[in-house]
Amino acid sequence: MKFLSSLNKKSLRNKICLLRIDLNIAEADLCEIPGNKSGLARNAGVEADWRGYEYIHPRILAVLPTIEFLISKGAKIVILSHRGRPEINFKSKISHFYQNCGKQENLKNFTLKPFVKILSFLSSQPIRFINFDFEEKFNAPIIRKIIDGANENIFLLENLRFVSGEEKNNKKFSEQLASLGDFYVNDAFSASNRKNASVSAIVEFLPSFAGFNLEKEIKNLNQAMKNPKKPLIVILGGAKVSDKIKMIKNFFKKADYFLIGGGIANTFIAAQGLPIGNSLCDKNVNLRGLMCKFSRKIILPIDTIVYKRKILDIGPRTIKKYSKIIQGAKTIIWNGPMGYIEDEKFRKGNEGIIKAIIKSRAFAIIGGGESAPAFLKAKNRKLKVNVFFSTAGGAMLEYLAGNKLPGIMALNKNKK
Ligand code: ADP
Ligand code: MG
Repeated sequence: MKFLSSLNKKSLRNKICLLRIDLNIAEADLCEIPGNKSGLARNAGVEADWRGYEYIHPRILAVLPTIEFLISKGAKIVILSHRGRPEINFKSKISHFYQNCGKQENLKNFTLKPFVKILSFLSSQPIRFINFDFEEKFNAPIIRKIIDGANENIFLLENLRFVSGEEKNNKKFSEQLASLGDFYVNDAFSASNRKNASVSAIVEFLPSFAGFNLEKEIKNLNQAMKNPKKPLIVILGGAKVSDKIKMIKNFFKKADYFLIGGGIANTFIAAQGLPIGNSLCDKNVNLRGLMCKFSRKIILPIDTIVYKRKILDIGPRTIKKYSKIIQGAKTIIWNGPMGYIEDEKFRKGNEGIIKAIIKSRAFAIIGGGESAPAFLKAKNRKLKVNVFFSTAGGAMLEYLAGNKLPGIMALNKNKK
């Protein structure tokens, strides 16, 4: 794999970089632009220390160093991303787009247009949005002409999932995309588990590099996988248990304990034959074998917070027990919240875990759509703990499970 950082001494003047980032961010998480611009720009590359400013999604902050580097080298940047699942019916030619997400209220969940303002503010660069509001309007030669003729140095293409070839990893579409630039950079670790044209197939057509954020993700996760300092404690919560099982299996020898919370704990509790009422539970997953084999290492809640017959958080005795184990850790991997944290009433478990991690002296890797933002919003400034925030949820788990991610495999194979 080639890294963008290796181009440190090369001039990239007038070269066009196709930069894949991950702007798959929900409407509710879109940030307001804060007043204190200079402070924010200075802190933008440092994950843990921009509290006090308005909230900006960590996935946006994570790619700023790559954007700044490319601009400082004189390159033009064409930003590629997807957002949401527009689920466009590409077969019905007549107004398929408008049937599915053309209605204004739907479109706003999928369009990348709002990111022009945010990215432009953070990079201090004017950004030109290139709209193709449905498949037929994606015309590579016309887009290339716009890029070549424009004064701006940064372009943002509309949601690539508005074109059917994106999710099909279509070779022709990726070739059209590739014709828009001179080289390709993947800085979207959190999308690298998707076999999509802008992540995988495109690499065949251009010299390709891993961006700064992707490089950092791989190096930090490798550290936890290859020679973690022991004890290694894995904390797993969230909703989707199937995502986490393979990771548990891959880490079974390496980890000392798996602390289980959140919705996935219910599936474990049910597997023991205990009642869980109407709690979230994945009935399609059979955990019995796993629990027989690994029972000594898998730690389950000893008390829970129940509301309307649903387990929605871990209880105080569990928080205490888990915190004690976390205190002794040298390495921590955490993915998925401990409770239904969207409701303030069920955040105590998550906050307890955050406190325990902050007090520990471990190297902590924190990922998942919810866990990292929750940690960052916590108000503790002095960290003894050395934290790496992964920008990924699913991709992080897949990587830690030992799966080969299509985006990373593609970069490894790139010969150009
Ligand atoms: P991540 O994105 O961190 O990998 P998931 O997507 O699997 O994690 O799950 C996150 C979701 O899990 C959150 O929306 C949270 O509300 C939910 N959740 C956690 N604990 C519970 C619970 N006990 N009952 C229902 N939902 C829960
Ligand atoms: Mg999630």
